[in-house]
Amino acid sequence: MNTKKKSRSLLKLVWHVLTAPFWAVIGIVWLLVRLVRFIDGVGTAIAVMRPEVLCPAGHANHTEGVFECGYCGGRYRGSVWICPLCQSPAKHFPCNQCGLSIRPPVL
Ligand SMILES: [Zn+2]
Ligand SMILES: [Zn+2]
Repeated sequence: MNTKKKSRSLLKLVWHVLTAPFWAVIGIVWLLVRLVRFIDGVGTAIAVMRPEVLCPAGHANHTEGVFECGYCGGRYRGSVWICPLCQSPAKHFPCNQCGLSIRPPVL
């Protein structure tokens, strides 16, 4: 009885030792994913907050001003990236010089 209990606790210990690296790897991967997402989020936030954005041809466009929403058709003053009337995010907007579509840094 006693030896059976002992061997079971030993088995438990071996199991913990064997599974510990597995959980450590899971933990590290989880931390890395969170870190990458955090850095990505900060980069996106900084890019969205920039007052100017470059079109594919290199023309500078203001991201703050008067824009027309492609979803609800409303005209508003604010950020080009999000419509304050319908809360829709912009998929793209045309360059004020060459007309090429500029994608938001979020997408
Ligand atoms: Zn809208
Ligand atoms: Zn342009």
